[in-house]
Amino acid sequence: MNPPVSRIKAAFWDPTGARYSIPTWPWRMSPPHLMTLRQLAAEGLRPGGQGVQAQVLWRSRRHGAPGVRAAYLYDVRFALPKRTATPAQLEALAKANAARRTCPDCGLDVGYVLPRRFGVCLDCHYGPAEVAA
Ligand SMILES: [Zn+2]
Repeated sequence: MNPPVSRIKAAFWDPTGARYSIPTWPWRMSPPHLMTLRQLAAEGLRPGGQGVQAQVLWRSRRHGAPGVRAAYLYDVRFALPKRTATPAQLEALAKANAARRTCPDCGLDVGYVLPRRFGVCLDCHYGPAEVAA
């Protein structure tokens, strides 16, 4: 698939994870073997031992919560049949993921994995007006 033409989509096009620390696609452009937790659950699957493999990023203009939104993707090839995680396991996972999403400049959990190249969130790197354009 060729990179998208739209500037915002191009900003989120990073299949190798060179810019973000994990492979990243714009909304609706990720490969079919990568699925969200909800999609895995619909198949009766859970991520298994794997961590987040990739993410989808998109601009949300939803009233009250504008900004970049992320959906985390797991590789269906590593997925296992469903099993309930313990609360301690869930808490440890949530903490690890939150640390990767927290911007050192503005101190916010921005909801997506920070681009490794920038080290800060997109709003801090570009400025909100630039990204929202
Ligand atoms: Zn920031």
